[in-house]
This record gives sequence, structure tokens and C-alpha cells, in this order.
Amino acid sequence: MIAHFSENIGNEKALAIAEDLKAFMFKEGDKYVVITSSSMKELPQEYKSLATETFVFDTDMQLSARSYLNRTRTVKIGDVEIGGNSNNTIVIAGPCSVESEPQIQQSSALLKSLNLTTLRGGCYKPRTSPYSFQGLGLEGLKLLKKMKEEHGLTIITEVRDATHVDEVIEYSDVIQIGAKSMYDHGILKACAKTTKPVLIKRGFGTTLQEFVQCAEFILSGGNPNVILCERGIRTFETKTRFTLDLCGVSYLKEYTNLPVVLDPSHAMGHAYGVPDLTRACVAMGVDGLLIEVHPDPSVAKSDASQQLDHPSFEKLLDSLQPIAAAVGRKIV
Ligand code: PEP
Ligand code: MN
Repeated sequence: MIAHFSENIGNEKALAIAEDLKAFMFKEGDKYVVITSSSMKELPQEYKSLATETFVFDTDMQLSARSYLNRTRTVKIGDVEIGGNSNNTIVIAGPCSVESEPQIQQSSALLKSLNLTTLRGGCYKPRTSPYSFQGLGLEGLKLLKKMKEEHGLTIITEVRDATHVDEVIEYSDVIQIGAKSMYDHGILKACAKTTKPVLIKRGFGTTLQEFVQCAEFILSGGNPNVILCERGIRTFETKTRFTLDLCGVSYLKEYTNLPVVLDPSHAMGHAYGVPDLTRACVAMGVDGLLIEVHPDPSVAKSDASQQLDHPSFEKLLDSLQPIAAAVGRKIV
């Protein structure tokens, strides 16, 4: 359950209540927010009169639930707002991996020429083979920082494990938690302590309940800036890399208060299908898209088959605005 207490009770009392209830607690505006397990249905008598409001839940989808906050939370990605009162669908684009300075300069130039603001690029790659390119690590983060400084771009990059989470938090504007890393408690807890936006990608074998519970790890630490990203789940089908769970997206929009971003690139796994799938995603009225684009996909060091080349990406982007407008959205 979630209980609100007025700030008048003071920090010491709020901490004591949280400790007694084995609960999480953070201050938000003029109130303390205390979150226990959802199995608690009533506050102990001694705290009942102190609480200003209480919310009871069936599952541990609590802070992320619409029944707690009946609107999509606003999250700022650089100067762009998603969720809240905005009707923005932000296009986040860039290569799978940061590979070299010339490569990431070309990606940055592409984004600038198309008035896009947010550059993606992985530096710590969670590869399925130890023999594949693992990313440039800190050198890559420094290149992204350079792109931010030279081009004014907002940077999103992924954290693979807790050993470099502080580095990623320092260098990026939005922290991406990868599909294979979303259960790493070291990462989740570090992301709970910052207020930078965190984009969590759904694991390919993760239920929607487990997915939102991951978000709860971050929200319950006091970081309200969480974005959910659907990037495809594993089904019996093998012709496409994964299966984009658009039904799940509807569920998340209906029952959670978190902005939702869709990643058609990783779901499809093949560039030929990415434009159609992206248009379907826009029609879902989501808060953002994550699209992989590379100056020369044929030589990409990771996810070569699914990255769009620059002309295909430009053509795709041109086609999105009318679809967005039809569902009351604006591509930014
Ligand atoms: C990526 O964004 O490049 C990536 C590795 O994604 P995922 O974690 O969804 O596999
Ligand atoms: Mn990738």
C-alpha cells in the first residue's frame, strides 16, 4: 500500500514509520510517501490518523499504477517533455553501438539535419557472444559527451552491469537499462538514487507484471523519471528476431502512469520491416520511439541487419507526422 503523510510530521517520524513498516519512503513536494508491500491492506491503528491518504493494491504495481496517479507522468528528455500534458512522440535515434568518432559524428549530423534532439548509442554492449564487439566503454561515453557539447544533443546510452553504472549516470542524460540487464539490482538501486530519466527495456522473457515491478525498484527509491520500453519478446516465431508486444503496450498505457517508448528495431531484427513497424508504433499513440540508424549498416559492429541507413531513416521520418497527427500526437 501507499500512504501519504503531511510534511508536518517531520523527516524523523516519516523515517521511523517507514522502518517500522519495512517500507520505502521519500519526500515528494509537501508530503512523505511511504510504500509497503501490496499485501498490506490497512495501516496499523497508530498511523491511521496521521496519514492524509492511503492507496491499496492487488499487486506490487503501485507507484506506477494509474489507480495511484491517473495520468502519464511527465519525463523530460533534454528540453523535450514526454507524457504529462504533452502530445509528443519523441524519436530517439542513432547506431546500436558507438564505434568511432567519424561514425558518431555522422549520426549526430543526421539528427541535427532532421531537427531531432536525442542521440542513442551503446558503449557497454550486452552481447550474447563473448567474441563479439563489446563496445568502446568509457572511450565511447567520452565521444557521446563530445557530441552533446558540439551539437547540443541529448544522450541516451545503456548500462550493462553495476560496475560502470555510476559512469553511465554521469555521462548520459537518459540511462538505458538493457533487456538483458533489467533484473540487475545493482543497476536498479543506483538508478533509484539519481533523478536522471531511466529507460527500462523489457526483457524478452519478462511478463508485464515483472516489467512494472522493475520500474517500482526505481520509483520506490524516489526517482519518478522512469520510461518503459517495449522492444519485443520471444515467442515461437523465429523468422523475425522478436515479436513486438503491442497488446502489452495497450496494457501499459491503460494501467500504468509511465511514458511508453517503442523499439521496432530490436523487435524486428531486419531493416526491411522497421519502417512499417515504426508506423504501426506511431499509430499506437506512444510517447517515443527508439530507432537504430547507422551511416553504413553493412559494416556495423553490432545489430548490422536491423539498422536503417540514413536515406531510409529520412524517408521513414517523413512518413510519420501524418500518422502521429491522426492519433493526436506530434513527432519531435
Ligand atoms: C540496444 O538498444 O542496442 C540493445 C542492446 O537493446 P536490448 O537491450 O533491447 O537488446
Ligand atoms: Mn542494438
